[in-house]
Amino acid sequence: MNSAENAIDLLKEGNIRFVKNLRQNRNLLQEIEATKEKQLPFAVIVSCMDSRTSPELIFDRGLGDIFSIRIAGNVITPEVIGSVEYACAAAGSKAIIVLGHTGCGAIKGTMDNVQFGFLPTITDRIQKCFNPGHTIEEIIKKNVVAGMKTLENESSVLQELINKNDIKIVGGIYDITSGLVTFMETHE
Ligand SMILES: [Zn+2]
Repeated sequence: MNSAENAIDLLKEGNIRFVKNLRQNRNLLQEIEATKEKQLPFAVIVSCMDSRTSPELIFDRGLGDIFSIRIAGNVITPEVIGSVEYACAAAGSKAIIVLGHTGCGAIKGTMDNVQFGFLPTITDRIQKCFNPGHTIEEIIKKNVVAGMKTLENESSVLQELINKNDIKIVGGIYDITSGLVTFMETHE
């Protein structure tokens, strides 16, 4: 098992602990002490801003474990790509998770054509990945897959690391009714 797969396994195991209510006992003050000089996060998670989907909680991780990039609808903007590149190429993260979730307001808002202020910078990106006939569940999944593809296709930095088997991109859907994350290993 390479370290990218290992990183994904750590997240899967953490989510199982979360769902079973067997979260590890953490001494956060000790974790502050252990990470004050340097951080070595093993994964970078791009997830929605939704208040029910906090990555550190749902994957049962502590301080210094994961880079957490949160944006409505977990859309992949150039700023998000740059942040993921930094996580993997500069800070050594091995796994990238694009994490959608059930009941996503950003997806619903896009389907309902809600538009005000700067919201179209988010909804326009989601709009591109579906047709009017799709159900919300399908669109949530398609949006994750589109995010995985965007990261892989638009970043030569990430492509190089993927080709060297150094990092891996996976998708996931978090179920807000059960706490369980279903992983998608491929976007084919
Ligand atoms: Zn959401």
